[in-house]
Amino acid sequence: MSAEIIDGKAIAARIKAEVKDQTDALRRERGIRPGLAFILVGEDPASQSYVRSKGKACEELGFHSITEKLPASTTQDELLALIGRFNLDPSVHGILVQLPLPKQIDEQKVIEAIDYRKDVDGFHPVNVGRLVIGLPGLRPCTPAGVQELLIRSNHDPAGKHVVVVGRSNIVGKPVMNILLQKQKGANAVVTIAHTGAGDLAPYVREADILVAAIGKPEAVTGSMLKPGCVVIDVGINRVPDPSSKTGSRMVGDVHFASASAVASAITPVPGGVGPMTIAMLMRNTLLAAKGEIYR
Ligand code: NAP
Repeated sequence: MSAEIIDGKAIAARIKAEVKDQTDALRRERGIRPGLAFILVGEDPASQSYVRSKGKACEELGFHSITEKLPASTTQDELLALIGRFNLDPSVHGILVQLPLPKQIDEQKVIEAIDYRKDVDGFHPVNVGRLVIGLPGLRPCTPAGVQELLIRSNHDPAGKHVVVVGRSNIVGKPVMNILLQKQKGANAVVTIAHTGAGDLAPYVREADILVAAIGKPEAVTGSMLKPGCVVIDVGINRVPDPSSKTGSRMVGDVHFASASAVASAITPVPGGVGPMTIAMLMRNTLLAAKGEIYR
C-alpha cells in the first residue's frame, strides 16, 4: 500500500485565500485592517526566519504588521512594558512573542501579560482553560492546523481512536483537547503517550489516527503502525545528510518511507503540518480583529 499524501501546503494556501477574502470584506464593511505585532528578543536565526515568514504572510493577506526586534539583553520588565503598549494599541489585534526567550525572561509571565483577546498563539491560561471547557477562544496554531488537516483531507476524527505522542503545552496537550471536544470536526477517543509510556509501540499500534509530536527524528516506524491508519507528523528535525548542499535535511518524527507503506494517508515533512501553523496564525489574527469570539 502507498499512502495518500496529505498536502499541507495546498490546504494552507486555501485557508490563506479564505482569510484574504474575509480580510478584504472586514476592511470594506467595517474599516478594520487586522494587525499583528511580532516581538523578537535576541538573534536566534531560526526565530528570525520564522518571524520573516509570518511577516511575509501578513503582507500577502493585507494585514498591518509591526516587528519589534529587541536585544538579547532585554529585561523582563522592558518586554512586559512593550507588551503592555501593544495590549492598548487598537491597531494591533494579535501579539506574538517569538519563543524561546533568553534565560533572564520568564516565558510564562510573558504569556500571561498578553491580553488574552490578542493571544493569537493561544497559550494564555484563559484560552487554554476555554479550550479545555469547550468554549470559543483563540486556539494554538499548530494543533488547530492538525485538526484542519484532518477535516479538509476527509479524515474526520469523529469516533476514531487518535493517539497523540507528546504532551507539550504547545502541541500534544492542545491537540488532545481540540480533538476530544464534543464538537464537529472532533469527538475523537484520544490517548496521549509520552516518555512515561516506556515502549511506545503498543500505543501507536492502536491508533486509527496517529499524531506524532515527539521531537525525535523518525522515532515512529511503519512496523509500529496499524495498517490503514492516518499519520499526522508534527515533527521538525534536522539530521546530517552529506549528500545535501547544506549538509543536513529535515525529517519528521515518523519514518516516512516505512510508514507510508502501511498507513492509508500521511503528512510529509516538510509540506505537511508546517505550512498550516502560519495559516492558522493568520486566521487567529483575523478572528481577533473581528472581535466576536469573547462576546
Ligand atoms: P517537546 O516540548 O520537546 O515535547 C516532546 C514530547 O514528546 C514530550 O511530551 C515528551 O515526553 C515526548 N517524548 C519525547 N521522546 C519520547 C519518547 N521516546 N517516547 C515517548 N514520548 C516522547 O516538543 P514540542 O514543542 O511538542 O514539539 C514536538 C515536535 O514538533 C518537534 O519536532 C518540533 O520541532 C515540532 N513542532 C512543529 C511545529 C510545526 O509548525 N510543524 C510547531 C511546533 C513544534 P515527556 O513529556 O515525558 O518528556
